[in-house]
Amino acid sequence: MQRSVVATSALVLALWLQVCGAANAAVATHTGHGVASAPSIRAANPLKQMLAAGRQAAANHQHVMVIFDLDDTLFRTAPRSLAILKEWSATPAGQPYTAKVAALTLEQLGYGIDGALGEIGVPASQVPSIDKFWAARFFTSEYLKYDVANPGAVDFVKAVQRTGVQVVYMTGRSTDMQAGTQKALIDKGFPWDPAGLTTRLVVKPEKATPDYQFKGEQAKALAAEGTVIGSIDNEPRNVNTFHQVLPAAIVVELATVHSPNPPALLPGIYAVSSFESAQP
Ligand SMILES: [Mg+2]
Repeated sequence: MQRSVVATSALVLALWLQVCGAANAAVATHTGHGVASAPSIRAANPLKQMLAAGRQAAANHQHVMVIFDLDDTLFRTAPRSLAILKEWSATPAGQPYTAKVAALTLEQLGYGIDGALGEIGVPASQVPSIDKFWAARFFTSEYLKYDVANPGAVDFVKAVQRTGVQVVYMTGRSTDMQAGTQKALIDKGFPWDPAGLTTRLVVKPEKATPDYQFKGEQAKALAAEGTVIGSIDNEPRNVNTFHQVLPAAIVVELATVHSPNPPALLPGIYAVSSFESAQP
């Protein structure tokens, strides 16, 4: 474990030096106070670094993994939330808002539905019961059909798999969503290996466990069986945990939406706005 961390550090450093001169892609690194560009370093895009590190490690016949979050990382969940809100707006409680919900755009949804409810004038006193209606549907396989793949996500995951790296889909979705999640990944064109060799899915057995805790424990377990060279997640608390558990890995926050009151990102974590930044 110790040796693997040191070896991975050396590998990442070597790749960093190798690609720094050639890369012209802008990258953001976190200073601990939000996102700031690093003008003094012409850094390689961290997604491209992951591909380079994957190729090199796989060429050395190592068991190498990259961890991908699902909700609001590989998948955009706003369409799922909007579909549920439309369903709510057809109920007696929601009918006064039917037209306003119909006019909502995906951009107005943000994280969850509370912001959108505020925008259409739903009183705060009604929000908890609508959240309950939303949660009873959002966290079920049936509604996953509304999700869309984020731009560039399918191509990037396929590119990672092609390097010889094992793709680990790690989600806070619980075990009862495992089959639906598998179907959603396949339906949207993400790589899926039925034998569980080039891809695997890790879901949360206990709904009550906080996602960051579950993911930290799982990342530790993966690091004991091979080398995790990178992880990508939209939640600041999760990426901080990955950075702490996997100090040599390339840890990336996909800056889409995230839960309220996020912690500051730890120094050394990368932020990218889209998987499309990995494209040539
Ligand atoms: Mg997520």
